Amino acid sequence: MILAATSVAARSTGSADAELIDDLVAANRILADQGVLDGFGHVSARHDKDPNLFLLARSMASALVTATDIMTFDFDGNPIDPRGRTAYLERFIHSEIYKAHPGVRAVVHSHSPAVIPFGVVGVALRPIFHLGGFLGAGVPVFEIRDAGGETTDMLVRNPELGAALARTLGRAPVGLMRGHGDVVVGRSVREAVFRAVYTEVNARLQSEALRLGQGQVVFLNEEEARRAAETNSAQVGRPWELWRAKALAGDR
Ligand SMILES: [Zn+2]
Repeated sequence: MILAATSVAARSTGSADAELIDDLVAANRILADQGVLDGFGHVSARHDKDPNLFLLARSMASALVTATDIMTFDFDGNPIDPRGRTAYLERFIHSEIYKAHPGVRAVVHSHSPAVIPFGVVGVALRPIFHLGGFLGAGVPVFEIRDAGGETTDMLVRNPELGAALARTLGRAPVGLMRGHGDVVVGRSVREAVFRAVYTEVNARLQSEALRLGQGQVVFLNEEEARRAAETNSAQVGRPWELWRAKALAGDR
């Protein structure tokens, strides 16, 4: 009993960096403001003091998240500081991606509307402009029936489904979830937000281009996509400042 209490206390001693919490709150608000998250969906960050923990808001709409709503979870999806707060049903998306992919430092799960068609029609989501260059590595599609059978409610509500999703994602920055939404990862909260916003924009533009061109579209080739992604990764701070100012303007 004493041992268990000590171990929990030891794990929770290093509280997360204030700047990381601030970024995570801003990420919630930005993704809502940019139309990626609505009443549903969530964004998390790997804990900066303990790589086996992650930070995620309590179960609520991202547009309303403040610093006091941020909870800390272990890789089993258990909150270590619940204080009466409820956790998102799909927190296992985050726990299993962090567990499987040590380089990932932030995860967005959304029902980003423009991506939904690409998860259900067998047309690959591909980089249509330079800001979607990160999609050039390929965008896998997670079929929940392969992992959970024909009778799920489509939610990744347990560790097994989360692990299957993390396997499908592999090293890609974006994975679609058939009939549900997507997951987007990054090496920082800001990079994950950048990618989540431009995944939605790219999907919208690609649908328009496919219609306009009657299926004939010139996409970025592999090298263009790789180089564009590299350039843009160094620039994620610029849109971040704009999006953050807009999303948090009402707080002043
Ligand atoms: Zn979902």
